[in-house]
Parts: sequence; C-alpha cells; structure tokens
Amino acid sequence: MVLELSSDKKTWIRQPIIVVLGHVDHGKTTLLDKIRGTAVAKKEPGEITQHVGASVVPASVLNKITEPLKKYFPKLVIEIPGLLFIDTPGHELFSNLRRRGGSVADMAILVVDVVEGFQPQTIEALNILKEKRVPFIVAANKIDRLEGWKAFPDTPFLESVKRQSPRTISILEERIYQLVGKLYEHGFESERFDRVKDFRRTVAIVPISAKTGEGISELLALIAGLAQQFMKKKLVTSEDAARGVVLEVKEEQGLGTTIDVIIYDGVLSKNDLFVVVGKNGPIVTRVRSLLMPRPLQDMRMHEGRFVQVDLVTAATGVKISAPGLEDALAGSPFYVIPSEDRIQEFTRMVQEEVSQIRFKGESDGVVLKADTLGTLEALLEALRRENIPVKLADVGHVTRNDVLEAAIVSKSKPEYGVILAFNVKILPEAEELRARENIPVFKHNIIYQLLEEYLKWFKEFKERER
Ligand code: GDP
Repeated sequence: MVLELSSDKKTWIRQPIIVVLGHVDHGKTTLLDKIRGTAVAKKEPGEITQHVGASVVPASVLNKITEPLKKYFPKLVIEIPGLLFIDTPGHELFSNLRRRGGSVADMAILVVDVVEGFQPQTIEALNILKEKRVPFIVAANKIDRLEGWKAFPDTPFLESVKRQSPRTISILEERIYQLVGKLYEHGFESERFDRVKDFRRTVAIVPISAKTGEGISELLALIAGLAQQFMKKKLVTSEDAARGVVLEVKEEQGLGTTIDVIIYDGVLSKNDLFVVVGKNGPIVTRVRSLLMPRPLQDMRMHEGRFVQVDLVTAATGVKISAPGLEDALAGSPFYVIPSEDRIQEFTRMVQEEVSQIRFKGESDGVVLKADTLGTLEALLEALRRENIPVKLADVGHVTRNDVLEAAIVSKSKPEYGVILAFNVKILPEAEELRARENIPVFKHNIIYQLLEEYLKWFKEFKERER
C-alpha cells in the first residue's frame, strides 16, 4: 500500500469513503447488506473488513467480486486498497460527514427503486450531493421486480440482461430513460453505465437488484474504477496528524462517552492529543483507547464487542474513548493537535469552522434546534434554499431562551416567529412559555418533512394574511 518514500514521510492511497443515499424503502440497507455479505463470502480469513460505523471491502475481495467482468472490461485492475462504506445509509447520518465546504464522503451511491422512480428523498439527496459536490452514481435498484424479469442470482447485469425477453428489456430501457429524464431536470447528464463515454460529465446508472445480487459486481467495479481514475490525488494521505469527523457520540458500558470517528487523513495513535467541538466550546483531550469491532469468530471467546488497537491509518472508522467527551457533538471536526503549543491554534480553527452553523444573528427569522452539527447544517442549507432567514441556530433541546427569541420575532413577523426542532425535545419550562406565548413548534426526525410542514404552514399563513 505504500506509494512512495519522500524524505522520511510515508504516503499512501487510502480507500475512498462511500455513502449510500436515497428514498426510504428503495433498498439502501439491503444493498449495503448485500455488499457486506458478498464481501464476507469472498474474503480470506484474516482480512478485517469491519470498522466502527463502516465496512471495508478490501482490494483482494474487490478483485474476486469483479472477476466475471474481465470479459467486458479487460483493463479492469483494482489499484486502490479497497472501498470504505459508511454502514448507516440515508442523509441524516450523511449530514454528519460534514467538512468545511464539502463532505468527508468521496463518492455516493444514489439508490432509486426502478419501479417507483424519483421520490421526495431522492430529490433531497440529489440536492445535498449537489451542494456538497459529492460525485455519485445511480443504482437503479429492484430490477428483479420488472415485469417478466428472470432472476440470475449474483450475476453481472450485462450477463443477466442478455437472458431476458425483448419485452422485459424494453421495459427496463423505458425505466432507465425515465431516470435519465429526471436527472436531467435536476441538471445532470446521465446514461446507462455501459454506454457512458465521459464519466466526468455523465452520471452512470447501474441497474441492480440488491435482493438477487445482479449488477452488484458492476456497481463495485465502477466505484473503484472512478475513484482510481479521477480521485487519486485526493486519496493520497500520509503519516501526518489525523483528521476526521465525529459520526456519532455514544455511551458504551464500561467506557463512558465515546465518539465514533471516520478518519480520512493521516495516522491516529493512542495518547494523541485532539480537539473536537462540544456543546460548550472546543474539547481538548487525549485518546485513552482506540477501539475496533471484535471479529465475529472471536465473539465467543472474549468478553466485549471491541478490541483495542495502538494505531489506525486513514481511511478508517474507529471508536475513541477519552476523558471529557460527554458534551461532544456529532458532525464535529476531529483534529489531532501535533504539539501542546498549538492547542490554541487548533481550538480557534474548529471554533471558526462551526461558527457558520451555530450562531445567534440579528435577523428576524426562525429559531432552529437540531441534534447534531450535521443535521443543523443540513437544515440551515435547506432553509437558505427556501430564502427563510434564520435568527438562531444551535445544537440541543429547545430551551426557554429559544422560545423567548421566537416570541420577539413573533411580535413583528409572526410567520418567522417559530421554532424548528429536529430530533430534539422541548424542555418542560420552555413548553410552558411556548404555550403561553402561542409559539408554533415544528418537530420531526426527517429533514424534508420538518421543512415541508413548516413551509405548508408558512404558505397558509401568507394566504390568510392576504
Ligand atoms: P431502505 O429504507 O432504503 O434502507 O430500504 P430497505 O433496504 O429496507 O428495503 C426496503 C424493502 O425493499 C425491503 O422489503 C427489501 O427486502 C426490499 N428490497 C430491497 N432491494 C430489493 C430488490 O432489489 N428487489 C426486491 N424485490 N426487493 C428489494
């Protein structure tokens, strides 16, 4: 994996970080399970594939999975060390992969049910990918549900389609064509993957069935191929201090509060000094232990779900236990501080980085509360798209003070004198005041529904006003 030795610093190409997005029930979880299942079936003992919050399909396994495609693509050689898939699909967690001006995800798979076509969350996912500039391919899933489809399990799509009736093939073509049309409406050129001439300009559509496994080898080959062709520079990493993002903050029995971090750059070791953003400002602490999931075959012999490791290299998903993480926020940047004299520089840097997301401004706008920095940012961006001014944006439950802020706005601009609460509670003393002041609160744990409910109310309000 070592690419070159420049002076005394090792550099290497890391695995690209892949996320799966799409509308509910379109098959994201089934697809990830299928990829993991296939990867586990094809792996040799000792090839570790399970990370914390992510799974890696190593190059050796990718080579085996894509072997049947050599017939079509003789030049297909896997050069990257593997693919790192974020285990939880959907854009709520995706939003926590935030990074200044973009995403930690290198590439996305947008899953679309080929029978149902585009749905609200497909469009929302597309908007987020556009905004974050994450390249993606479309997995046109559930081809086995097309009329007359005969399933050939775990077969490449190009093999399977040859054995379908002309009528079924034309139904498939029609469905793909519909997707091409929808993508065009949203500003993307697209084409079935085997007909794409320029992958930099055209989004590839791979017909798959997450259930039967048809098309999965093409999907994986394509992701690997695109990553090694267009992203090599971005994937070069070195022994430098680790950089990552906090995916989740979790209580673990016997460990206290831990953070699950995706490391996208550098090397992270036990005892490293690092900074993350907490509810009340930056948290500077040292890695007490680095934890990886215990391999399944070990489960019976040992206690506990995790094993300790001394060091991890990018790209990886790892659980970190350290003192003082109780208030850490998901979606926070994670930076190792190279030396103690640079603590100030790094705390200032993370503070500045999140000041765009957590703020109290002067505008008469809505009050926004969310459970993580990632969802807060996603909501802010969605509100900006709708030209809704935001007065206050923060992570945490709705407090009395939030209600007071909304109440002030409500006096002059009642349509903005509201609270949007994503995946957080209204504290009892806040509720009391809210009821008294009659401040509307919109609560939801799906971003687009929260927005939709408020916008619907907003429209009705404006109509009543006329
Ligand atoms: P998610 O909400 O996007 O994660 O969707 P799931 O993976 O939970 O899938 C929703 C439903 O669709 C489940 O009942 C799956 O078994 C089914 N499903 C997923 N992929 C396929 C597929 O390729 N073919 C068929 N026939 N069903 C599928």
